[in-house]
This record gives sequence, structure tokens and C-alpha cells, in this order.
Amino acid sequence: MDIKSSTNDDIGKFTTMKIPAKVKKIYYPKNEQELVFLYDYLLDNNIKFVILGNGSNTIFTKKSNNLVIIYTKFIKNHISKRENIVSVSSSVMLSKLYRYCQENSLSGFEKLASIPATVGGAIMMNAGCFGENICDNLLSIKVHHNRKTYWIKKEKLNFGYRNSNLNDYLILSAKFSCHKKDKCEIEQDYIKYLSIRFVKQPKGLSSGSFFKNTPTYSAGELIEKCGLKGFTVGGAKVSEKHANFIINFNNSTSEDILKLIKIIKKNVCQKFKINLEEEVKIY
Ligand SMILES: Cc1cc2nc3c(=O)[nH]c(=O)nc-3n(C[C@H](O)[C@H](O)[C@H](O)COP(=O)(O)OP(=O)(O)OC[C@H]3O[C@@H](n4cnc5c(N)ncnc54)[C@H](O)[C@@H]3O)c2cc1C
Repeated sequence: MDIKSSTNDDIGKFTTMKIPAKVKKIYYPKNEQELVFLYDYLLDNNIKFVILGNGSNTIFTKKSNNLVIIYTKFIKNHISKRENIVSVSSSVMLSKLYRYCQENSLSGFEKLASIPATVGGAIMMNAGCFGENICDNLLSIKVHHNRKTYWIKKEKLNFGYRNSNLNDYLILSAKFSCHKKDKCEIEQDYIKYLSIRFVKQPKGLSSGSFFKNTPTYSAGELIEKCGLKGFTVGGAKVSEKHANFIINFNNSTSEDILKLIKIIKKNVCQKFKINLEEEVKIY
């Protein structure tokens, strides 16, 4: 199968943090058939690869130069509905899914719409905000695993805080249960949540919250109490607005980011005896 690809390219441009990094090859499958073929081919040949959605929770480093990337955002996708159930391809952005639902008077994505994620990336990470997680309204997902493509019901899956048990799975599409609501009310709620995010969230190139909260403390609070707000390494800094956001404010390199992570973790560990765990996937 002749699948479009590029070699020795910068993968950073396909991530929200825009940290430059070379990878061996980037594949751009254009449909589900190519995606599945590629997935099996890479697995069968023991080639190390990463599936990339919108790259909003992913950073590549110098260690990534041996990696092959499957970039999913050019895949022809679909969204459809049957009564209150919405089916959507994994490469669709949550903002687009929200708009489709809103136009069809279906409520369910007003809160999550502001997360800059594909459906696949959001399910893998169990993304969430404003007290809601993507798994809440999920009914089932279509996956490819062990050379087979099939649907799995949510009850058979495990979702936790910013994680799922889908690490070895290719997510192809999903079905969500929505409920009927007035279009204008849906839009009002959406704008309300978007405004809260606009006020609270730092501007600039980031990967969202960088570290996971602990069961008792917010990672941002711990980092702030270490006096690290505004702390910089090269072109990377801890946001002054929200200490759990690392911002690429001036052509940051992956080395800058890795050094900054080390400093943050060391400070938090020394002061609170807590080992922060990255939410962001670093390759
Ligand atoms: C400004 C900003 C705000 C954010 N706010 C939030 C927030 O409020 N809540 C929150 O939870 N997160 C938030 N995030 C983080 C991020 O958006 C989420 O983690 C999101 O789920 C990542 O989706 P993605 O498509 O960008 O995934 P990527 O970063 O591309 O990938 C994430 C993981 O999913 C895997 N993956 C992607 N697609 C597939 C697929 N089809 N099949 C199998 N695996 C796949 C990747 O291999 C990787 O392991 C924010 C990020 C930014 C930049």
C-alpha cells in the first residue's frame, strides 16, 4: 500500500507545544484502511511507532529520532447520529464534535469542547474538565487490536484519572450517548465554560496541565509553593498564571523542557516528599 509519508521531518510542528524534534518517518494515512494496514505493518516488523492525534499532550525529544509516527489528522472522518447516539471517527477534533452536536440539539460536549484534542487522543487519556471526563457519555469504541477490528462496550474498559487501559489499542471510532436540549442553551453553556478557560488558562504554547494532580494536592499548587512560578530554563518557563503549565515562550528546545521538569520534580520532592508524575507523554 502506498501511504503518504515524509522522512527526517520535524514532528514538533504537529504538537501544540511546538518543540522541534526529528523523527525517522511520519506517515499520513488518509483513511481507516491505510491506518489499520500501517498499524499491523509496524507491529509485525517490530518498528517502534507512536500514534499522534492533535499532539496536545505529547512532546518529542532527541530520543525520538528512531521513532515512526502515524499522524491521524488527515484521515477522512465521519460524524453521524441515530436519535441521541452520536458516532464519530477518532481523528475528529472535540470542537468539531461539539459543533455537530450543538447544531443537532444534542447536549454532551459543551464542557469538553475546549480541550484541543482528537476523539482518539481524548479517549486514550480520558481527558476531562469542569468535573466531566470523556468516558462519562461514552457507550463503546471501535478498536483494532491483535489484527482484529471490533467494538468494545465501555463496561469492558477501565478509565482512570487521565488514563485508560487502551495503550496497545488503535482507536478507530466511538459512540457517545447525548441528550436533547435547546440549541441556544447548549451554546450558552459552551460559551460559559470557554470563558472560564480563557480567564484561568495561560496563553502561549503548552501541553495543558503538565503533571497529574495527586489524590490530595493539585500539582499547580505544589509547584507554586516551591516558588517556581515564572521560573525559566532557556525558552521554557513555568507559567506565571498557572504553575502546572509549562510554556514554550521563546523557541524552547526539548533539553530546556527536560531540565525544567527535573528542577520542578526535585523541588516538589524535597519540599513535600511527593513525586510528581507527568501527564504529558514524552518520547
Ligand atoms: C491548551 C491546552 C488545554 C488542555 N486542557 C485539557 C483539559 O482541560 N483536560 C484534559 O484532560 N487535557 C487537557 N489538555 C491535554 C490534551 O488536550 C489531552 O490530553 C488530549 O486528550 C490529547 O489529545 P490529542 O488528540 O492531542 O492526543 P495526542 O497528544 O496526539 O496523543 C495523546 C495520547 O493518545 C494516543 N492516541 C492519539 N490518538 C490515538 C488513536 N486514534 N488510537 C490510539 N491512541 C491514540 C497517543 O499515542 C498518545 O499516547 C490540554 C492541552 C492543551 C494544549
